[in-house]
Amino acid sequence: MKPGHVEISGAGFAGLTAAAAFAQRGWSVRVHERAPDLRTAGAGIFIFQNGLRVLRAIGALEDAIRGGHQAPARETRDPSGKVISRFEFKVEQRIYTVVRQQLLEAIAAAARKAGAEIVTGSEVLSADPSGAVTVSGGITRSADLIVVADGVNSRIRDALGLLRSRKRLGDGAIRVLIPRLPEERDGIDSQNVVEHWSGKRRLLYVPCGQSDLYLALTTLERDAPGHALPLRQEEWCRSFPHLRSLIERIGTEGRWDPFEVITLDSWSAGRIAIVGDAAHAQAPNLGQGGGCAMMNALGLAVAVERSEDLASGLQDWERRERPLTEQVQRVSSLYSVVGAWPDALRSLALSIAGRSKWMVGQRMRAARHIPTGT
Ligand SMILES: Cc1cc2nc3c(=O)[nH]c(=O)nc-3n(C[C@H](O)[C@H](O)[C@H](O)COP(=O)(O)OP(=O)(O)OC[C@H]3O[C@@H](n4cnc5c(N)ncnc54)[C@H](O)[C@@H]3O)c2cc1C
Repeated sequence: MKPGHVEISGAGFAGLTAAAAFAQRGWSVRVHERAPDLRTAGAGIFIFQNGLRVLRAIGALEDAIRGGHQAPARETRDPSGKVISRFEFKVEQRIYTVVRQQLLEAIAAAARKAGAEIVTGSEVLSADPSGAVTVSGGITRSADLIVVADGVNSRIRDALGLLRSRKRLGDGAIRVLIPRLPEERDGIDSQNVVEHWSGKRRLLYVPCGQSDLYLALTTLERDAPGHALPLRQEEWCRSFPHLRSLIERIGTEGRWDPFEVITLDSWSAGRIAIVGDAAHAQAPNLGQGGGCAMMNALGLAVAVERSEDLASGLQDWERRERPLTEQVQRVSSLYSVVGAWPDALRSLALSIAGRSKWMVGQRMRAARHIPTGT
């Protein structure tokens, strides 16, 4: 189909990747972000090989991973600190951990370079399958395509009646970024991503570039003291006494997000396509929510470009991309289920999952996937 005009709701990873991909294919692109500036929620982020491929395809890779960390391995440890599973990242399974804001700005720069306009402080109030979009100030614009990429709480998606299910998994995470100490930068033992378990609580230790350490503290929603903010350091020190010096460095920053899974009846309606968390939010246990958002945003631009008309492009897009995204959602949810099991049983399950080629294959399927358009 010939390039046209696209209006995008939301300047997160999905919306900005779509902006770059459409602009690079000759479309005129306007992105609306309701926040006053481009800012990510959260701290650090894992980018697996699939996400790196998308970033390369849209010309954002170099900026996105500059100074980022490449962990040699990921370990899972039981409450005593014993390693119950270890996964070495091989060259073809390259994985970067970076500060989220850097990733967001890299994608935004690629989108702007390709000619996309990003309007901050502009909220999308409604979108119509006919192609009309109304933004704050009551301005209505028409578009050949509207991309709804405004996150898990998308009101536009809900108003369209496309939501099939929205499920809370019962767990969630507090995420923080703290300075990385010189000994953590240089020590061999502190280069890995480490998942420490104790009861229903988990502390994920993620080096994130030279100067930052990303910590994700996950627990059940019913563990009110565990997810109270500011973080109750003594609570977490009780669960992880051997990590006291780390926990005591966490200040008053941080946010709590419950894990949710979103599925839609359809990823599109008329001239509207829904992408990213708005369409397929998932538990972050595989670190693929952003990866799927970026893959599906690029896949959308490619499918529409290759199709005769918009309707068949949107159908091809969903047919091609949705099965993998749903596989990630299922496997990721499974880890939330296992996380709620008693210590001994969970340790056994994680140890088996870490050694089973089949389970590792399931876990890494999206990471090994070659995304459309890359
Ligand atoms: C604890 C945790 C850890 C995670 N770790 C990883 C990881 O390591 N790797 C990974 O790939 N993924 C990870 N994810 C998932 C990842 O964060 C999300 O999948 C990703 O941010 C989704 O991007 P998005 O663009 O769809 O939505 P969002 O990032 O939510 O962006 C939506 C944007 O739309 C804007 N907006 C909302 N409504 C409107 C409106 N009406 N008009 C205009 N703008 C609007 C918002 O302000 C926001 O900027 C994690 C998630 C969690 C909760």
